[in-house]
Amino acid sequence: MDFVIDPAEPASAAVCGGGLFPVRRIFCIGRNYADHVREMGGDPKSSSLVFFTKPADAVVGNGSSIPYPLMTGNLHFEGELVVALKGGGVRLQTIDEAAALIFGYAAGCDLTRRDLQAAAKDAGAPWDAAKAFDRSAPMGEILPVADAPKGFLDSARLETSINGETRQAAPLNDMIWTVPEIIISLSELFELKPGDLIFSGTPAGVGPLIPGDKVDVRIGDLPSLSFSIAE
Ligand code: MN
Repeated sequence: MDFVIDPAEPASAAVCGGGLFPVRRIFCIGRNYADHVREMGGDPKSSSLVFFTKPADAVVGNGSSIPYPLMTGNLHFEGELVVALKGGGVRLQTIDEAAALIFGYAAGCDLTRRDLQAAAKDAGAPWDAAKAFDRSAPMGEILPVADAPKGFLDSARLETSINGETRQAAPLNDMIWTVPEIIISLSELFELKPGDLIFSGTPAGVGPLIPGDKVDVRIGDLPSLSFSIAE
C-alpha cells in the first residue's frame, strides 16, 4: 500500500558511539522527587505514580537552539534522567524483568509551559498543552546500559545549570519510584515496546527560561545535554 501523503520522518535520538534510537512513545513521570513535590505544593507521602506523555517528535538533540514556545509567558526547565527501552511487555512482575528492557540512559529536559499547567490543574483539565508541545523534549545522546558504570542509578547525580549557574542538584537515588518500578507501573497500563522513552521526573529547583538562556543537564558519566532558548 502506498501512503497517500508523505509520511513524517521517524522520530529518533542519537546514541553515544553512533547510530539512532527510533523513538516510539514518550512517557513522563511527575512527582518523583520528594523535594520537587513539596516545591509544587504537594505532599510526597500521598504521591502515587503520576504520568503524562509527549509526542515522539517532541525530541530534539544536543546542541539545539529551541524557539521560545507559543502561548506561554512562563517556560520552565525540568532536568531529568531519560530511560530508553529496547524491549517491551505488559504487566511485568519483577524488577529483573523490567531492568532487562532498558537499552540505555540519557540526560533530558522536560520543558513545561508552567502557566498553562497551572491553568489546567485549576480547571481539572488535561496537561497536553502544558507538556506535549513541539520541541518539548530535548535530550542528549543515549549511553547504552552496557557502557554505563556499574551501579550508575545508585551513585549518579543529576545537575541542571542555567547560564552556568547550578539550579538543580540531586542524586538519582532520591527518586520516589525507581526506574524498574516505573517500568512495572507503566506496563500495568500500557503495552510497552522497543523505542519507548521514559522521562523519569525532576528534582527541586525548577524555574523559568527566557530567550538567550543556555541549559545544561549533567547526570554522572552520561553525555551531557546542552541547549539554548533562541533569542
Ligand atoms: Mn517532568
